[in-house]
Amino acid sequence: MIKENLDIVRATVPSNITLIAVSKTKPVSDLQEAYDAGQRIFGENKALEMRDKHQVLPADIQWHFIGHLQTNKIKYIAPFVTLIHAIDSLSLLEAVNKEAAKNNRVIDCLLQFHIAQEETKFGLDMEEAKAILESESYKNLNNINICGVMGMATFTENAAQIRNEFKNLKNIFDTLKENYFKGNDSFKEISMGMSDDYPIAIEEGATMVRVGSKIFGARNYNI
Ligand SMILES: *Cc1c(COP(=O)(O)O)cnc(C)c1O
Repeated sequence: MIKENLDIVRATVPSNITLIAVSKTKPVSDLQEAYDAGQRIFGENKALEMRDKHQVLPADIQWHFIGHLQTNKIKYIAPFVTLIHAIDSLSLLEAVNKEAAKNNRVIDCLLQFHIAQEETKFGLDMEEAKAILESESYKNLNNINICGVMGMATFTENAAQIRNEFKNLKNIFDTLKENYFKGNDSFKEISMGMSDDYPIAIEEGATMVRVGSKIFGARNYNI
């Protein structure tokens, strides 16, 4: 089932776009099934869950942290995480830098932007991002590398609204690239799109899509 689902999703994601299989809440056996079908990039949103899965699954998996990251949990994932998608404050970036330094690593990060209408979703606005990127502190963070932006669209049936929100994130990316990352080839990622809206995200310039339920089935939070 997971293999079939993966094949269906892969057929709709161009090969130059990174497909992140979002495996949060799913058992290790499900991830192994996706791995056996060739998937190597997984997304999780709880630090301890990600660490535990990392410990038992093959070492060539790339682990993407896609959720809100608490400062005191960074240490669990800092030794191995490939990309942290949801940086939404300077203090979090500083804390990631500190844990990365302890591990002699440079950790790739994305800045999360608030593009949805809902109040509850985390993320920066342009002014806050500028404040981070122009701060003295940021200049001294040698163990993090910001390589793009991430966002989540509003949970709605309104495809036009979703498309506008993704367009907005693409504009934010272009503006940051022009003003802060010109000539920096590693600043290139736009992480947007989930099971229900990733085709729109791809049309609007996503370089990474985060697909969970369409691969692994609906999540059951009660188990
Ligand atoms: C859960 C989650 C996803 C995947 O959601 P699906 O709708 O199951 O594809 C993507 N991005 C983030 C940040 C998530 O928390």
